[in-house]
Amino acid sequence: MSLHRGENLEFNKSEAFFKAAQDFIPGGVNSPVRAFKSVGRQPVFYERSKGSRVWDIDGNEFIDFVGSWGPMILGHTPDAILDRVKEQIGKGTSFGAPTILEVEMAEAIVKAVPGVEMVRMVSSGTEATMSAIRLARGHTKREKFIKFEGGYHGHSDSLLVAAGSGVVTLGIPSCPGVTEGTAQDTIVVPYNDIEAVKAAFAANPEKIAAIIVEPVAGNMGVVPPKPGFLEGLRKVCDEHQTVLIFDEVITGFRLGLGGAQGRYGVTPDLTTMGKIIGGGFPVGAFGGKRSIMEELAPIGPVYQAGTLSGNPIAMAAGLALLEELSKPGVYEELERKGAYLESGLREVASDAGKATVLTRVGSMMTVFFTDAPEVVDWTTAATSDTEMYAAYFGQMLDQGFTIAPSQFEALFVSAAHTDEDLDAFVEAAAIALKVL
Ligand SMILES: *Cc1c(COP(=O)(O)O)cnc(C)c1O
Repeated sequence: MSLHRGENLEFNKSEAFFKAAQDFIPGGVNSPVRAFKSVGRQPVFYERSKGSRVWDIDGNEFIDFVGSWGPMILGHTPDAILDRVKEQIGKGTSFGAPTILEVEMAEAIVKAVPGVEMVRMVSSGTEATMSAIRLARGHTKREKFIKFEGGYHGHSDSLLVAAGSGVVTLGIPSCPGVTEGTAQDTIVVPYNDIEAVKAAFAANPEKIAAIIVEPVAGNMGVVPPKPGFLEGLRKVCDEHQTVLIFDEVITGFRLGLGGAQGRYGVTPDLTTMGKIIGGGFPVGAFGGKRSIMEELAPIGPVYQAGTLSGNPIAMAAGLALLEELSKPGVYEELERKGAYLESGLREVASDAGKATVLTRVGSMMTVFFTDAPEVVDWTTAATSDTEMYAAYFGQMLDQGFTIAPSQFEALFVSAAHTDEDLDAFVEAAAIALKVL
C-alpha cells in the first residue's frame, strides 16, 4: 500500500526555508541537483531518517530510493553505524595523526577489492579521482587521459569535460572556469565503444596516461558495460602501458564486496571509491597496484595530502558498514530485491503502454523514458523524455516516494527496503505512469 496515495503532500516549511536558503547559498543548495531544478519542483528539506524512510521538516514520511546518492546501502541511520560513531566521538574527532582505524580500513579494502594492494583515504570521491589521475600521469609521465561521455568522476577541472550527473542534468556542455589547456588533455569517447577507444590511442600515440571509467555507468542513469567492453579496456591499457582506472565511487561495495571488478572479473590498475565506504560521512579512497601507489608522497614524488583524510569518525562509520556488508547473504538479498523491483516496474510500464528502457545491475537501476531499443551510452540515454521523467518524479514524490531528481541518475535499493516497500513503490509507479 502506498503511503499517501491520492492526497497531495504539503511542503510549506520546505518552501519557506528554500526561499531563505537562496539568500545565503547559491541556488539554495550545496550541490546542484539537490535543487530539483530539472524536475520543476522545490527541494525537500529533511530532518531525520531511519531504515527505508526519511522525514522532511513538514512531517511528511517518504520511502527513499536515493539513499544519499549511494552510501545508504543498509538503509538510513543503521544502529550498527550509529553505535560505532557514538563510541568514537567520545574518544576524539580528528587528530591529524595516524589511528588504528585507518589501518583497519585500508586492510578491509585491500582484502575485499581485487585490484587494490595499497590504498589512501581522502574526503570525497572528487578528491579520489583527481588524485588517481595525477598519480597515473606521474607514473606514466604522460599527460592525456580518456574518459567516457556521460561519465561523472567528481568536479575537478579535467574530469568535468562531457560529464554526467548534475552536469548533464543542468545542460552544461562545457564548464566556464575549466581552461582550454586542461580540456585538451581530456579525450572523450562514447561508453561501450571499444573501437573509439582504440582510435583515440592511434591518434595519440604514447600520450595517454590513463583511462578512467565507471565499470557500470551510474551517472547517465545506469548503463551496464557490454560483454567484452571492460576486458577490451584492460587489453588496450596493457598494450599501451596505460593505467586503467575503475571509478567505483558508486559501484564499490554496492555490486558486491569486490565491487564491479569482482563482479565482472576485470582488474584495473587503480580504483577510486567513496560513497558507501564512508557509511554516510565524507570519504573517498584511491588504491591499486603497489608499484604505482608507492609513487605517492612521502615515499614517492607524486604529492597528495589532506587535513581530514582518514578522519576517525568517518573510518569508524565506514568500518562498521563494511562489517555489516561482510555478513553472509547481504548481496544475495540486494540482488533479489533489485530483481523483484525490476520485474514489478517492467510490468507496470508495459501495462501503462509507456516506452521505457529499464537497466539494472544488482541494487542500482534506471527507468529511461525512451523509445530507443536499448541504452548503451550517452547518445542513447539522451533520447529520454526528461519532461516525462520530471512528471513521474513529481507523481512519486506526492505519493511519498523519493527518487533521484534527474533522469540521469540511479535508483538505489537498500537492505532496509522490505518487499512491502517495493510493492508500494510499484503500486505508486503504476498510478504515476498512467497519468503521465
Ligand atoms: C559521486 C561520484 C563521484 C564524486 O564523489 P563526491 O564524493 O561527490 O565528490 C565520483 N565518481 C563517481 C562515479 C560518482 O558517482
